Amino acid sequence: MSASRGPEMMRLIERLYPICRSITGDGVRATLDLIDEALGGSPSLDRSEVPSGTPVLDWTVPREWNIRDAWIKDASGRRVVDFRESNLHVVSYSTPVAPRRIGLDELRGHLHSLPEHPDWIPYRTSYYDESWGFCVTQKQLDSMTDPEYEICIDSTLEDGALSYGECLIAGDSEREVLVSVHICHPSLCNDNLSGIAVATTLLRELATRPRRLSYRFVFAPGTIGAITWLARNREQAARIDHGLTLVCLGDDSPFRYKRSLRGDADIDRAVEYALATAGNPYEVKDFHPYGYDERQYNSPGFRLPVGSLMRGRHGEFPEYHTSGDGLDFVRADRLEGAVETLQTVFEVLEGNRRYRSLSPYGEPQLGRRGLYRAMGGETDPGDLSMAMLWILQLADGDHDLLAMAKRSGVAWASLVRAAELLLEHGLLADETGAD
Ligand code: ZN
Repeated sequence: MSASRGPEMMRLIERLYPICRSITGDGVRATLDLIDEALGGSPSLDRSEVPSGTPVLDWTVPREWNIRDAWIKDASGRRVVDFRESNLHVVSYSTPVAPRRIGLDELRGHLHSLPEHPDWIPYRTSYYDESWGFCVTQKQLDSMTDPEYEICIDSTLEDGALSYGECLIAGDSEREVLVSVHICHPSLCNDNLSGIAVATTLLRELATRPRRLSYRFVFAPGTIGAITWLARNREQAARIDHGLTLVCLGDDSPFRYKRSLRGDADIDRAVEYALATAGNPYEVKDFHPYGYDERQYNSPGFRLPVGSLMRGRHGEFPEYHTSGDGLDFVRADRLEGAVETLQTVFEVLEGNRRYRSLSPYGEPQLGRRGLYRAMGGETDPGDLSMAMLWILQLADGDHDLLAMAKRSGVAWASLVRAAELLLEHGLLADETGAD
């Protein structure tokens, strides 16, 4: 555990927070720049710019959206709604509106508010239908009583590109672990920035450690970004054995894990094991086809085993998709807890092997091999010895180490060490991937 990681992640979130992100545009590029800066150059992101109009699976890369300013002014010329105060004030992907006067009744048809939370600004998008709108607090809406206002949305919606970043850190094996994070939300912290901060920290630390597996991190806009990545990486995608989307990891809910479509993939078993052994409350749900980019990865053509780790579930916490999901809503220790949990998951995936005993008829004599001191005399044979006994008992080729860990309750590190010792002494064969 590192005491500085949580505050570092909060600092990254604070820098990302003011940027107006959407599914395309300069906000996405600025976000990728800051992720790269936090990675410190090693590793660094491979950036892609996919032109508007490019067909991607059943979709098309949309035109690029950028915005400089937007406002609603009252009769005295005062900005009563101001994009410079919060980028949530404009419906994302709003078409440009040149400064013009508009009657209050007509304007109301373009305003969104949350009567049940009168101080919060809602977050709304209009990606795939051309329209415009403003999001306001209920208090702002209630105070708008002039018969007429002046409005302006200084945005552009033009041919450009969709941007995403990815990073592959190679291990001994070409088989990959995918970590996918969406990067398309504007000033919202838990839904989006928490996942970005946790993934960036994991990536930076994984790159400094020895690895058996390869790890691929994809930072892409939600839905269209993952679809674009899949369209351009059909072959590489087949190397992915384990995957996760990371979302909403900074709030104070217990962890929730949404299984891959398969439900019993190694990633599902590894996450459930990591959550169960951490000793805190958690919840596990089966896959359902609503949520984040696990939908794309699990689709029938790809069927990649990708689950989703979160705390608060999208749509179920009141702050979701509102300005209530601000800097005060996420906490350093929650982010740190997510990094620790995910590092346990990776450790389990790294060490999980399938073994067969080479001395399966009765118990091999461990004492003769120096593996088991004074077996008869000890009342507590110790974790390492128990790990050896469990492995030798279960090493029938059907149980992998994760199954042995679950069955035995012996600590993961002891099982990994015991398996190494038994392999060294010729008592086990590693049959991982043999079937
Ligand atoms: Zn969202």
